[in-house]
Amino acid sequence: MKRKTFHNAAGYKRVLWGLQAVFIALPAVLFLTGCAGNPGGRTEPYSETFFAMDTYMTFTIYGAKAEDSLKQAEDRIRELEGLWSVTDIKSDIYAVNHSGGKPVAVDGETEELLSFALEMAEETGGALEPTIYPVLAAWGFTTGENRVPDREEIEELLNRVDYTGVRWDGGSIVLEEGSMLDLGAVGKGYAGDQVIQLLKENGVTSALLDIGGNIQAVGAKPDGSSWRVGLKDPFSGGVLGVIQVADEAVVTSGSYERYFTGKDGKRYGHIIDPATGYPVDNGLASVSVIASEGKLCDALSTALFVMGLEDAERYWRQNQGFDMILVTVDEGIFVTEGVKDRFSLQSEYQDMTVNVIEK
Ligand code: AMP
Ligand code: MG
Repeated sequence: MKRKTFHNAAGYKRVLWGLQAVFIALPAVLFLTGCAGNPGGRTEPYSETFFAMDTYMTFTIYGAKAEDSLKQAEDRIRELEGLWSVTDIKSDIYAVNHSGGKPVAVDGETEELLSFALEMAEETGGALEPTIYPVLAAWGFTTGENRVPDREEIEELLNRVDYTGVRWDGGSIVLEEGSMLDLGAVGKGYAGDQVIQLLKENGVTSALLDIGGNIQAVGAKPDGSSWRVGLKDPFSGGVLGVIQVADEAVVTSGSYERYFTGKDGKRYGHIIDPATGYPVDNGLASVSVIASEGKLCDALSTALFVMGLEDAERYWRQNQGFDMILVTVDEGIFVTEGVKDRFSLQSEYQDMTVNVIEK
């Protein structure tokens, strides 16, 4: 395999493998390759798929308590969905979004999730914007009735978007009138962490959660080997590459996950750049983040997708604590050095270039 190294204008080193790239991107896809060992007397995993938080989830659990644990895990997800749904009139978020500027007392877990989201909004310079909802709604992503709003409408709505305007009054949230929360960019990762905690408390040592494409693992496979998580090419439907993980999360954000095609023939994705109010269109096709906590992966995958390749690289260098795989719309795959040795392209993609981002 060909290999060469160069320094780009920003001064960092990239190691190139292979000859040429083709177009790709990717939600995570899962490979469950066999099972060995016999944890808790059970040789086969217990697995179920259900619909929650507006997506399909598949949980696969090994061990004696697998079936019971799965039931509890699903209940836990539904409990959190009940708190954070933007459409359920009984949810905390619905109450806050319809409070007319009055304080709303919320569950401790909502407080925790919102605090985390606000912290990450600050950390990412507002790329993650938990109050993006009014703009998202104008594009029709909340109802499925998609449309391209005109520029004045977007400008007007952007006046209602500002995470620094969210205030706390004891355990109550105070939103300025007209402002609305959407914790969709972090909720699934946070929920995954809660399920993992529950499973560990139940003594589960091996499980894999697919939360609408977010992958979160408890431990390794029963035989001790790493889980093999596939990253998918959204256009061909093929599997681009495989990343090996244990006790970690792999969360992908991309415009291809949810999008519509406007009358102008352009594709508009569901992740909004809070600086412009328009769907992100910065040359990135997807960002996958790998770290131990699902909530961090989830917040960062969305925020780094908004930032674009160069700012994402800069953010990684300044913050660390996570790895990432970025795919651009013009043939590039970029991986941080912590994953380069555990990420491999599938045979059909062997000719693609993998650029390694180094410190
Ligand atoms: P994810 O799939 O985790 O990247 O989250 C995307 C979802 O987060 C979208 O479907 C919206 O509900 C919401 N969202 C869109 N743009 C942003 C943004 N810039 N900051 C925070 N949430 C966003
Ligand atoms: Mg996210």
